[in-house]
Amino acid sequence: MIEVTLLGTGSPIPDPARAGPSTLVRAGGQTFLVDCGRAVLQRLAAAGSAANQLSALLLTHLHSDHIADLGDVLITRWISTFGPDPAPLPIIGPPGTAAAVQAMLTAFGHDIGYRIAHHADLTGPPQVQVSEYTDGTVWDTAEVRVLAAPTDHRPVAPTIGFRVEHAGASVVLAGDTVPCASLDTLAAGAGALVHTVIRKDLVDAVPLQRIRDICDYHSTVEQAADTAARAGVGILILTHYVPAMVPGTEDQWRALAAARFGRQIELGDDLHRVQVHPGVCVRPAG
Ligand SMILES: [Zn+2]
Ligand SMILES: [Zn+2]
Repeated sequence: MIEVTLLGTGSPIPDPARAGPSTLVRAGGQTFLVDCGRAVLQRLAAAGSAANQLSALLLTHLHSDHIADLGDVLITRWISTFGPDPAPLPIIGPPGTAAAVQAMLTAFGHDIGYRIAHHADLTGPPQVQVSEYTDGTVWDTAEVRVLAAPTDHRPVAPTIGFRVEHAGASVVLAGDTVPCASLDTLAAGAGALVHTVIRKDLVDAVPLQRIRDICDYHSTVEQAADTAARAGVGILILTHYVPAMVPGTEDQWRALAAARFGRQIELGDDLHRVQVHPGVCVRPAG
């Protein structure tokens, strides 16, 4: 079984009830943080985990809302890992990730210096192991395999989605993307697809072109549902709601997806949790 927890279902627009984009995936005793938006570590604590328990950080792309709290993840993991010679944190993302991580460590250079000066047992800066991919197998252990494939979020490029596989169960995390063939291939037959979505009908009504621009490079709820249907996934999990899903309107969002995708649809608030079992889970008709 793979467990998916929506840590942050928000977007770049701050919302009092929704943290920034981030998803927790637990499989085979391993813990993957996918993107690390605003307030990620508070939601991670609420989900019963912590920065020092992460097996790896996976980044779909380098948009600010998806890496807003990268510095917090790096520093907090560093200062809350107490054994000698802590293993480096594996960070897997698209080209550009190493430079972004290095720049974040540089930005926190004063803090890193203060803490090394203060604590005798902190002898070096946070250790990271950054790997950049646009596709292929990015993680391969006895229990868990993770694949990556290109997505289409242009002009943001390159961007990637991930497929986490464990004991016959599989979860695909699309990140921000418009529909594309490589995502369809990555998601084919997966147990679940976690997809970021916008409501074009609501965004188009905003009298600000910069807000309406959002529609250019994101999938609508309907498009995400079409992708899920084409790929034949078992569960469609919607997140990163633009605009923020107003309480009481969940059924509107669900109905837009259900018109295109007849299987299980999950959406909700931060910390919504979904269990994905081996094989494709089909909700009985009726
Ligand atoms: Zn983005
Ligand atoms: Zn985003």
